[in-house]
Amino acid sequence: ATLSNQIAAGEVIERPASVIKELVENALDAQASQIDILVKDAGISLIKVADNGTGIKSSEVELAFLPHTTSKISNLHDLFHVHTLGFRGEALASIAAVAKVALTTSTDNNAGVCLKINGGQKQSLTTLAKARGTTVTVTDLFYNTPARLKYIKTVNTELNHIINIVNRLALAHPEVAFTLATNQRNLIRTSGNGNLQQTIAGIYGRLTAQQMIPFQQANADFRIQGYTSLPQQTRSNRRYISLIINGRYVVNNQLIQAVIAGYESKLMVGRYPITVINIALDPLLVDVNVHPTKREVRLSKEAALAELIHTTIAQSLAKLNL
Ligand code: ADP
Ligand code: MG
Repeated sequence: ATLSNQIAAGEVIERPASVIKELVENALDAQASQIDILVKDAGISLIKVADNGTGIKSSEVELAFLPHTTSKISNLHDLFHVHTLGFRGEALASIAAVAKVALTTSTDNNAGVCLKINGGQKQSLTTLAKARGTTVTVTDLFYNTPARLKYIKTVNTELNHIINIVNRLALAHPEVAFTLATNQRNLIRTSGNGNLQQTIAGIYGRLTAQQMIPFQQANADFRIQGYTSLPQQTRSNRRYISLIINGRYVVNNQLIQAVIAGYESKLMVGRYPITVINIALDPLLVDVNVHPTKREVRLSKEAALAELIHTTIAQSLAKLNL
């Protein structure tokens, strides 16, 4: 079991940021309103994700770590018809196969359990008092898979991957208060009050958020709504453009290009705006590349959506007479 779990783990868990993504998505699926993330050495020595969600029943904690165990769906038709972020039941099993994991959980603010698993081997199951919610502590990631450990880049690179994924998850969920801290400092804090502009402030800074331009537009197929920054931000990278389709953070190059195109000649070469776009559409229009981690999506009416994004952003910028 351990070997096949390690192989499966390689698909889902590429790097510390993948662990964080899976644990945060579980917390979101458990209706958490507060998610606190702590990392040491960019997650290689420690990742801790604490949520105040529903918790897991004591009787089901061990089950949650079995491969292909999910409480969420029984049959996958279309990712965008699935209302939970997780559905494969692979994440906890995969993480526990390649690290040392302690999961503590309670469903009732009173009695809870702590399950410890190292490299797929159960160490202990104990009871304890705990507030409602789940805390997963992952230490020594890839300690038993040296080949995978070799792929891990510098602490800076891995931390950037972590910040990037937490940014996107927080932007897609303004109703959830997120914190991300390292042992030295707090990196992200969002309010969780549901306001997208305030969430942007928690991530990119208050001043940036205040200067951002709101936009919204709709046609028969799509509704788009969001914020985009003034041109010529000093810090700029395509990663500052976030696409959220029906509440799920996705990657789509044509739509990112449409945002950039909306700036026409206003962006200097090599500079990108900060943009957050919420897109609401009929799930039937989305084709998902159903790889366990890939966020790339294709859309049936992609060109039309790109055109809507392009013109909407161009119009909001035109009003400013830059
Ligand atoms: P999936 O999310 O695809 O169902 P996971 O391996 O990520 O698979 O999780 C397995 C199961 O463990 C979930 O279906 C859920 O029932 C439970 N679970 C995991 N994390 C949490 C959490 N933070 N809060 C509540 N339940 C959780
Ligand atoms: Mg999951």
